[in-house]
Amino acid sequence: MKKGQLFIVSGPSGAGKGSICQKLVKELDVELSVSMTTRAPRPGEIEGVDYYFVTRDEFEESIEKGDLLEFAEVYGNYYGTPKQKVLDKLANGKDVVLEIDIQGALEVRNEYPQGIYIFILPPSMTELRKRITRRGSDSPDSIELRLGETLTEVSYIDQYNYCVVNGDLEEAVIRVKAIILAEHSRVSEQIYGLIKNYKEEV
Ligand code: 5GP
Repeated sequence: MKKGQLFIVSGPSGAGKGSICQKLVKELDVELSVSMTTRAPRPGEIEGVDYYFVTRDEFEESIEKGDLLEFAEVYGNYYGTPKQKVLDKLANGKDVVLEIDIQGALEVRNEYPQGIYIFILPPSMTELRKRITRRGSDSPDSIELRLGETLTEVSYIDQYNYCVVNGDLEEAVIRVKAIILAEHSRVSEQIYGLIKNYKEEV
């Protein structure tokens, strides 16, 4: 059976990767991996849909057991990708999208270099500042910390296959969808089966 492809959508906090991924799962036949986190649920977030919410002890146990494809500590909380679920979906031919931070993406890349790595950029630092401020969940100090962190994070962009600037959400979604469709149009082993059928038909 044809294996699914792994798409890693990553970028600085506030670049809008979450909004892009929510639209992707509605518009394409791809599955979003549900991460594990130690942060508290926000109002409206559902266990097993938005995240698996766990304690630090439970998270550290998963690390020790080798259950995570990657994990990172992001602004004081652990976040990680349950490994087996992702591998099972890929083995069953499903495309999987990981929406994760940059540390996590670089970790996945070591283990799964055949993934497609997409970096989501904000259109400017001024716009990023506005978005983080609008979210209302960060103190002024924390906003400055995130902006400083962004400058470090963008220096890893050459580790990625694609980048998409998210100025307009609809346009960014069109571009990420185009990347996914293009990756499915690559000349690959699978296409030889189809060509073999052509020969048999003639
Ligand atoms: P939030 O708390 O706003 O949901 O997410 C904070 C950050 O953690 C975001 O940048 C998000 O992409 C990232 N994140 C979410 N899940 C994972 C994960 O499983 N692994 C890593 N490395 N980062 C994650």
